[in-house]
Amino acid sequence: MTAYKCVKCEEEVDIDPVNEKVICPKCSHRVLLKMRPEDTDRVEAV
Ligand SMILES: [Zn+2]
Repeated sequence: MTAYKCVKCEEEVDIDPVNEKVICPKCSHRVLLKMRPEDTDRVEAV
């Protein structure tokens, strides 16, 4: 499963892009950004 975020309604969805089409179940938008939680752990020291 891969976490995606719809660029239109910002719904977060877990989809398997191998078996399922990457489409937002909420608004049917087909442009979803792949979320990378490993990046969110990195906080730049100010
Ligand atoms: Zn959406």
